Amino acid sequence: MKKLQGKAAIITGAQKGIGYAIAECLSSMGADLFLTDINEEGIKKAAHTLSSSFNNRVIGYAQDVSREPDCENAVKAAFDAFGKIDILINNAGITRDNLAIRMKEKDFDDVIAVNLKGPFLMSRAAFKYMSKQRAGRIINISSVVGQSGQAGQANYASSKAGLIGLTKSLAREFAKRNINVNAVAPGFIETDMTSALDEKTKQALLSQIPLERLGKPADVANAVAFLCCEESSYITGQVIAVNGGIYI
Ligand code: NAP
Repeated sequence: MKKLQGKAAIITGAQKGIGYAIAECLSSMGADLFLTDINEEGIKKAAHTLSSSFNNRVIGYAQDVSREPDCENAVKAAFDAFGKIDILINNAGITRDNLAIRMKEKDFDDVIAVNLKGPFLMSRAAFKYMSKQRAGRIINISSVVGQSGQAGQANYASSKAGLIGLTKSLAREFAKRNINVNAVAPGFIETDMTSALDEKTKQALLSQIPLERLGKPADVANAVAFLCCEESSYITGQVIAVNGGIYI
């Protein structure tokens, strides 16, 4: 029997990158998946690929995590499809980098809306179902820059630091209902989000990483998978860093 057989998981921002790697990993462990993304075509394609590769149910659903009705509807649709919600992975995220002095108000607000308000809205919506089940796992994908700060990312670093505060607060509120809430804080992972970095910046980054390589989406997915499993049932309110040692 696979470790997540019979479990139903929602993953946001799952059409590519880290979200897709998490979907692949949980699929291989037997979970049924409700994958969401703002890119409708991309998420339907991702769901189709995964459901034909693994023997599990995978649904692709278009959603903007920054909008309350979208979050309520997405979580209800997941419950209607699977009759339960065991796991929620808040992965969708965006960057709008600039030095603070030049940063537009809209770029600050948009990043907070997707990266911080989105996980709040999704967690609140999922809690309604998980609390009745008296069980659940919520995992928020934060970032090393939420722990260390980063020049040029005042909006993004604030959203990811806020997500750690949200994780710890929800862990305290939801524990009574046997719902564990944790965060994973990746370092620099090879995805579209980091592909824009030029070679010089990449080399400068590498020189600061004790393990001397950028991370892979699967490195993050493996940590998330652990937090979904029975073996992590006594862990809540924690931040697991997956960063090659760049911030210790
Ligand atoms: P990615 O490749 O850009 O994937 C993010 C996904 O989220 C995209 O498919 C994106 O769709 C989707 N999305 C954007 N806005 C959305 C919204 N409002 N509602 C629903 N979906 C939305 O990024 P990634 O590198 O895999 O990152 C995944 C998560 O890990 C993010 O939270 C990111 O902040 C975090 N993280 C990444 C790194 C890294 O080095 N890559 C490091 C630390 C933390 P579109 O492409 O259509 O916008």
